[in-house]
Amino acid sequence: MTAVVRPTVSEYAELLAKYTDPDTCPTDALQPLPLIEEPAFVSWQQDIPRAYLEMSPEELDRRISAAREVLGKKLVVLGHHYQRDEVIKYADYTGDSFKLARLAADQEGVEFVLFCGVHFMAEAADILTEQNVKVILPNMAAGCSMADMADPDDVYAAWDEIHEMLGDGASVVPVTYMNSAASLKAFVGEQGGLVCTSSNADKALNWAFERGDKILFFPDQHLGRNTGYAMGIPLDEMVLWNWRLPNGGTTPEQLRKAKMILWQGHCSTHQRFSVEQIEKARRDYPGINVIVHPECKWDVVQAADQSGSTEKILKAVNEAPAGSAWAVGTEINMVNRLAHQNPDKTVFCLDPVVCPCSTMYRIHPAYLAWTLEGLIAGHVVNEIKVDQETRKWSLVALERMLALP
Ligand code: SF4
Repeated sequence: MTAVVRPTVSEYAELLAKYTDPDTCPTDALQPLPLIEEPAFVSWQQDIPRAYLEMSPEELDRRISAAREVLGKKLVVLGHHYQRDEVIKYADYTGDSFKLARLAADQEGVEFVLFCGVHFMAEAADILTEQNVKVILPNMAAGCSMADMADPDDVYAAWDEIHEMLGDGASVVPVTYMNSAASLKAFVGEQGGLVCTSSNADKALNWAFERGDKILFFPDQHLGRNTGYAMGIPLDEMVLWNWRLPNGGTTPEQLRKAKMILWQGHCSTHQRFSVEQIEKARRDYPGINVIVHPECKWDVVQAADQSGSTEKILKAVNEAPAGSAWAVGTEINMVNRLAHQNPDKTVFCLDPVVCPCSTMYRIHPAYLAWTLEGLIAGHVVNEIKVDQETRKWSLVALERMLALP
């Protein structure tokens, strides 16, 4: 066997500089700017008072810190790992969607949860917290492009079509990824299914297969396919449901053969990673560890050394020996922070021109200042409130997930 020749730490540093050439890497543009100067602001929540638009990063920092001090223990700030640095620094707790859901459920004596994530996460926090707790999403335009690919009406129609095509005796359990609207979580709760995250998708699928022959998995085809494959389900027993086509573009034979019916949804951030990027990283850094998120495509996950949730990625890199090198296939803000926190290792994003999660990025400090100062003045801005019927059934689906071993 040929021994792997690893570059020295200084050679790694040289390669890293080349790999993240500022001329080609737009992530260098991720600098704090007043809200009005953010190029994408036109598509963000517009009704923020004018005074906040032009505040400098320093002024916003001063006002957010002062507001947090006034609100004290009445407030908890939760921050998703994909948030930019100038937002995550205010978080009392950070985590992936699963960890944040648990944290929201565990809060006691808190009146306000400021959720620095995206819409579906804030909805889950509202469902899991006591009724008197107000959950606030700083910018209402912070959605999730993947969650938007599963429109509830399309899912309900698909459910009926699948049952019509399979006929009597069909035993399909719906499983929704956390990245979905509360109404879809309620739907799976009512139909005997559950919610999963990338941390527990395998356990959720096992739970579902104990209760049915087939799983309808939405909205992320890649998480469904990667998890099913790792559990031993062949690719040809997982059929893709294209919600734009009659009968999802499938035949009754395909459906009958399938163990999993995968919704045709994806994450625009994670779908950018490719096998070619992994091959390049391996050429440039012999012996490198490649770790990717399971929202990446199946061939990318197969080509990587490991895959897992953001929490798993954090643990793997943080606990790795000094001098090791890591190419990471997930969102750039998290990878940059991970690199910063591990100066004794080489850590970089697989995609040298990767963009941040563009919807998570919509949480700008100006929105934090606005919503927090609103709370002090006695008005709750941007509260996320799930109606009672939706809450009842989505809580069932979420609690099934939280009860997984
Ligand atoms: S990274 Fe992808 S799945 Fe996660 S919030 Fe952003 S768009 Fe949605």
